[in-house]
Amino acid sequence: MSRRRCRKRTYFTELRAMIALIEVQKRRGTGKAEQSVYRCPTCRNWHLTSQAQRARP
Ligand SMILES: [Zn+2]
Repeated sequence: MSRRRCRKRTYFTELRAMIALIEVQKRRGTGKAEQSVYRCPTCRNWHLTSQAQRARP
């Protein structure tokens, strides 16, 4: 099997990731919380990231 699994928490849809993101931000309040979601090129699922989202071209 060549399919990789990321160690990060994985979400199968963007919507799920966004819901999780909101939950994380609620719990942590301000500070170093995840700020956006992105699609992972490795596992092709969605993860949260603490980096600000870049503008899309
Ligand atoms: Zn991944």
